[in-house]
Amino acid sequence: MSDTHEIPERSGVAFRLGKGQRLTVIDPRGCQVADLLAYDAADMDEVISSGRTLDYAETIRLTTGHKLYSNRSGVLLEIVEDTVGVHDFLLTPCSYDTFHHFYPDLPPHRGCFGNLAAALEPFGIGADRIPVAFNCFMNVPVDGAGRLSVLPPVSKAGDRIVFLAHRDLVIGLTACSAPASNGGSFKPIHYRID
Ligand SMILES: [Zn+2]
Repeated sequence: MSDTHEIPERSGVAFRLGKGQRLTVIDPRGCQVADLLAYDAADMDEVISSGRTLDYAETIRLTTGHKLYSNRSGVLLEIVEDTVGVHDFLLTPCSYDTFHHFYPDLPPHRGCFGNLAAALEPFGIGADRIPVAFNCFMNVPVDGAGRLSVLPPVSKAGDRIVFLAHRDLVIGLTACSAPASNGGSFKPIHYRID
């Protein structure tokens, strides 16, 4: 079995994931979100697309068996295992602007957006090329009137979601920094590549 890597609380990483490899994202303590991005390693203008994915899946509740599509309708990742079943692909990564909007009394933090931008910079990806991320374990129910809520994740310690890479990819992954998304406390995220 491969090594388990830790993403410390309120930080992020980027790494390569080869075609056919599996990325396991683990919530080691429970109730913690991890934002995930995927770019085609051969052409970074091709990136995961919330709009394409939700359109083709015909649901916002993505889980085992669903594919994550790119802006060019290519399959980048496929969810092959999921012990939670509650994730979000509607909301953009938290950022300085998020903190100014929702938490004006808290010290601002660069959030997942800033962490992803910093981690992806060595791969030549600028901040303006960061789209809506697939937010592992994020709990965003939509009511009958279309209103969104951000509730604590339902993930428990050790829960995981596993992605199969359909291409050679560059992945960005965070331990989310926004209070409401993570039940009011910040925990690390673990990941494994097999
Ligand atoms: Zn975040």
